[in-house]
Amino acid sequence: MTSAGRFAPSPSGELHIGNLRTALLAWLFARSTGRRFLLRVEDLDRARAGAEEVQLRDLAAIGIDWDGDVVRQTERTELYADALRRLAADGLTYECFCTRREIQEAPSAPHAPQGAYPRTCRDLTEAQRARRRAERPAAVRLRAGVSEWAVSDVLHGRYAGLVDDFVLERNDGVVAYNLAVVVDDAEQGVDQVVRGDDLLPSTPRQAYLAGLLGCRVPEYAHVPLVLNAAGRRLAKRDGAVTLAALVNAGVRPERVTERLLESLGLPGSLPEALAVFDPAALPRDPVLLPELSGYAGSTRL
Ligand code: GLU
Repeated sequence: MTSAGRFAPSPSGELHIGNLRTALLAWLFARSTGRRFLLRVEDLDRARAGAEEVQLRDLAAIGIDWDGDVVRQTERTELYADALRRLAADGLTYECFCTRREIQEAPSAPHAPQGAYPRTCRDLTEAQRARRRAERPAAVRLRAGVSEWAVSDVLHGRYAGLVDDFVLERNDGVVAYNLAVVVDDAEQGVDQVVRGDDLLPSTPRQAYLAGLLGCRVPEYAHVPLVLNAAGRRLAKRDGAVTLAALVNAGVRPERVTERLLESLGLPGSLPEALAVFDPAALPRDPVLLPELSGYAGSTRL
């Protein structure tokens, strides 16, 4: 299968300019390395009716094109079930009956890394499990053989982070993002993952799981986020941050693309940016785009 990059939005609402900037970067990384570029809608959770359509329309409006059909995670549940069955057959899963509260209140094991699941249900006996099953449905967790894993990232270099017995399937039967993303990337031939650096801490878990499933670990590039004026991650309430809001304020989509590319130190059209794209030259710090995001109705573009 030919190699590919991808953009994988959750259809929970409109994309904001931070998401659009990440999408442009994912496109540039893929296209500049001769990869295919895929779009995957991560609609297992948090899907809002109509959001996918608007997201795809906005991506096309800022100049992003993609190969093949858009893939939706809700149409791929058999693939996830199969991965879960393989892990279970290798003894790498267990049922967990903990509530969020129980996990918070559990005394953490000595030397356990902060934020790690305390492994409460890891060694339940069959009788204990049978009793708990009658009380509440089980989530499925990974029986991790490590507590830390390192990945290599184009922008961050070596990054080591926590791997705990993370959830693979929630107790409502929905497959967890960390499993779906690994299965999908492998199955779609994605060998380059470009996304916001808020997901860097999840990456060791995903790379470790990929190894257990016999999947190749992709190249990672976690890119800086767009921040609001207060230095926090951009959100809708920060003003005219969606393409629709900007267009409504009189800003053309081409100007949005241009401004986002400029914020990356690139020339303002996609073909020109593609011709000179060099990951090593990308800015590494989070960016503020006040003239795009800070003032609702701004026409300063
Ligand atoms: N669906 C995730 C999000 O929108 C991104 C997952 C990924 O790129 O791996 O935050």
